[in-house]
Amino acid sequence: MDNRIILKLSGEALSANSKKVINQDVLKGIALEISELIKENYEVGIVVGGGNIWRGVEAEELGMDRSQADYMGMMATIMNSLALQDSLEKIGVDTRVQTALRVDSVAEPYIRRKAIRHLEKKRVVIFAGGTGMPYFSTDTNTMLKAAEVGASKVLMAKNGVDGVYDKDPNVHSDAIKFETLTFREMLTKKLKVIDLTAASMAEENNLEVIVFDMNQKNNILKALKDDKTGTIIKK
Ligand code: UDP
Repeated sequence: MDNRIILKLSGEALSANSKKVINQDVLKGIALEISELIKENYEVGIVVGGGNIWRGVEAEELGMDRSQADYMGMMATIMNSLALQDSLEKIGVDTRVQTALRVDSVAEPYIRRKAIRHLEKKRVVIFAGGTGMPYFSTDTNTMLKAAEVGASKVLMAKNGVDGVYDKDPNVHSDAIKFETLTFREMLTKKLKVIDLTAASMAEENNLEVIVFDMNQKNNILKALKDDKTGTIIKK
C-alpha cells in the first residue's frame, strides 16, 4: 500500500529532553503533524517506544531479571501510547490503541485484520506493548508491524539528528550524512541506527526506512515527500 506508513516514535521523543517524562506541549506538536498526514490521505500506524520511562536492558545491567524488566518496558510503551492517543483525540483525530501485551480495560488487543480495517477507515492505529515478547525492541516491532499491515514506508523519528552519519555529528564536525544507504552498508559500517533484528526484518521484507529529525517543524510530511530531509535505508 503506497499511502500506508508506519511512524516510529522513541519514548524520548515524548519527553524531548525536558524534565517531564511526557511533555504535553511536545505531544501536542507531534499530534498536529500526524493530523496533517491524515489530511494528506496517508494511512498512519504508529509504534511508540518506552525509553523515557523504562528500558529493559538498562535494568538488567543493574541486576534485574531481563524478562521481568522487559515486560516493564512494554508496559511503559502502553503508557506512552495512551498519552499520544489522548493528544490526537483532543484535536479530533480518530485513533485506536492496539497492544500486543493485553490490558483489556484500556486498549484493544493487537489483531492484524482489525488494525488494517482501522487504517482503511483513516484511524491512526497506535501499536503499543512492543511485540509482546521480551528480548525485542520497539524498532523490531516497527518493522514487524510494517510488514504485517503492508506499509510501504517506515519513518524513524530521531531527536535532533537529521539522518544517518558516518560518525556522530554531535562529536565530529566533519561527519558526513548519507542520503541513501543499504541495510548491508549500515551493518558493515557498524552504524548504530536500528538494531540487527530490526534491520534484517526490514531488509527481508523490502521496507524503505527513512531516518529523519523530528525536532524540525513539518518534517514528517517533508521526509515522506522528498528524498533530502533524512536518510533513506533500503535493500
Ligand atoms: N520491549 C520488549 N519487547 C518489545 C519491545 C519493547 O521487551 O517487543 C521493552 C524493552 O525492555 C525495551 C522497552 O520495552 O527496552 C522500551 O522499548 P525501547 O527501548 O525499544 O523504546 P525506545 O528506545 O524506542 O524509546
